[in-house]
Amino acid sequence: MNKSLILVVEDDTSVRNLITTTLKAHEYRYLTAPNGQSAILEVSSHNPDIVLLDLGLPDMDGVEIIKKIRTWSSMPIIIISARSEDTDKIDALDAGADDYLTKPFSVEELLARLRVTQRRLSMMQKVSPAETVVFVNGKLRVDYVAGCAYLNEEELHLTPIEYKLLCLLTRNIGKVLTHTFITQSIWGSSWDNNIASLRVFMATLRKKIEKEPNSPQYIQTHIGVGYRMLKVE
Ligand code: CA
Repeated sequence: MNKSLILVVEDDTSVRNLITTTLKAHEYRYLTAPNGQSAILEVSSHNPDIVLLDLGLPDMDGVEIIKKIRTWSSMPIIIISARSEDTDKIDALDAGADDYLTKPFSVEELLARLRVTQRRLSMMQKVSPAETVVFVNGKLRVDYVAGCAYLNEEELHLTPIEYKLLCLLTRNIGKVLTHTFITQSIWGSSWDNNIASLRVFMATLRKKIEKEPNSPQYIQTHIGVGYRMLKVE
């Protein structure tokens, strides 16, 4: 099986070795870069499928690297950050990163993130989310043209904000959306007030689409970061 090509950007040799050993054991192809300059060079010359990007690099700010890559490519970027870099993590997601891993992470977590990203990648290759007319995920269906959402073929009665929120999540399936990104998309600003409102709307939306709102199947919470719609089999 021809697995994805992963670019590992990490200056810490032991972390880099842990990642590449894992990738090798699971038959991924990979490239490595120890700093930002070589990361950008590798991205532009080898066009990897997924970039694993450490935010704490010696020469460049990780967020700057993401912004640079995003000027010409939408390739998935999974950031790796230390717990002390929580705000950097949010900035990186807002700059266009797709997902994150927090150090220290396990091999299982790394592989799970790669699988989620690969699923998103294969969905994106089939049809661009921006051009999709009808979205289907498990028992959930959104007809963007008609402006209706269904669960088990029964129409959901959503408020305009709940519907907007659902569309934003479905159009970005597999991607972690930050509170700032969501509140700016829905209300055009990101006051703390809006983040509180977002929690309320998310709770009411979940009541309508999740079988068990307390152990959600469709919308995953990332505490202190945001939300993500998961692909349901
Ligand atoms: Ca580092």
